[in-house]
Amino acid sequence: METLHGELERVVHDLQVVVRTGIPGSVSGDQARLFVELFSEAERAAASGVALFTPRVVESGSFAKAGHASAQDWLGSLSGSSSGAAKGRLAAAERAAADPSLTGALHEGALSPAQLGVMTKLASEVPGATGDLLELVELGASHQELTDTAARLLATARSRETERLRRARVHAQRHLRVHQVDSGGVRGEFLCDEVAWARVGPLVEARAKELWKASGGSGGGESLEAHRLDALIELLSGSVGSGGPSKGARCQTIVVIDAAALRRGTTQGDELCEIEGIGPVSVEAATELLSEGSLRYLVREGFDIKTVTKSTRDVTAAIEAALIVRDRTCARPGCGKRLGLEKDHRQVDYADDGPTELDNLVRLCPDCHAMKTDGGWRLEGQPGAWKWIAPAHPKSAKYIARARKLAAAKAKPRAAARQRNFPRKD
Ligand SMILES: [Zn+2]
Repeated sequence: METLHGELERVVHDLQVVVRTGIPGSVSGDQARLFVELFSEAERAAASGVALFTPRVVESGSFAKAGHASAQDWLGSLSGSSSGAAKGRLAAAERAAADPSLTGALHEGALSPAQLGVMTKLASEVPGATGDLLELVELGASHQELTDTAARLLATARSRETERLRRARVHAQRHLRVHQVDSGGVRGEFLCDEVAWARVGPLVEARAKELWKASGGSGGGESLEAHRLDALIELLSGSVGSGGPSKGARCQTIVVIDAAALRRGTTQGDELCEIEGIGPVSVEAATELLSEGSLRYLVREGFDIKTVTKSTRDVTAAIEAALIVRDRTCARPGCGKRLGLEKDHRQVDYADDGPTELDNLVRLCPDCHAMKTDGGWRLEGQPGAWKWIAPAHPKSAKYIARARKLAAAKAKPRAAARQRNFPRKD
């Protein structure tokens, strides 16, 4: 054990020397990126070490020797975090210690504290389900994809009764909190039931997208998030003009569900029951929306969603539907964003009978879309197995932003004619 102690001290010391002597201004942007990638690896390895050894400290009560009354106080003071955050980390470490596959992943130094948190929470409710998530981490999935999958596995494992209790708890805890922050401005936070948000969310999203597009989209300089707030305030103050978010299908609430799950009333395995732009919900919650006028159900029967294009007269709408069912999140591997997704034509030439329209379409978030359109990145492969291929000389974010601005400026006359996003006074 003494050798491990010495080795650890030496590694930490070496790392401290690197941090102390490194001068950010003396390296190129590309070098700095590599450094940050290595530091992040070190961070994950260190976090894994903390998770591995903490339970032993708790069990032995050794934290008291460092003058702390509780293990969470001790860990909180070490990591400079709140006692509450330390408590969560402790609980995760203890659950991980009881799960051999998680312990293995920690020994590999493969998990961040956030990832470990998602996994141990899942492991406590769905024993044996961590394997699926570990596989995702190995494939480089984003945190969003990880939490989505965990949510889906949890929803599947929950009985209808627990699902009802969970929704009742969310309903009882519902709130909207708004307070002024020291640095200026007002910050807000809310919690509500998924079904409740599904009644307004798509409306906010549709209007936000409209405002964002009118101001030049990715090239306009202001984020979709900023316009989302403008849209919310506009809608709440009732100041949406005639050009508001009333353009047909665009502000529908969309529920994507497997036919079998709909028939059964619950999901099984990796079946889908999701509200577009919100996330997985129980079948019971999804069917509550049936009475809504602006609701659209996309039912997936088996996996062959291509048949949708053949059996419907309105081909465009059918392809759109099939695309939503197929690409639940941004198609770039590791992105996982689900809001503001845009259709992109991949324009791949197939040698034989040519691509069906669906094969040639993919959904990307605005940022990944910009990387592809203006940054030279390409999406290759097929649904479920996309590869994000770098150009010979990848462009910097600054270059891509400039290219977007230029493209937006060309489209200016059209955009300027549309409504601006400032609140109007009547
Ligand atoms: Zn993306």
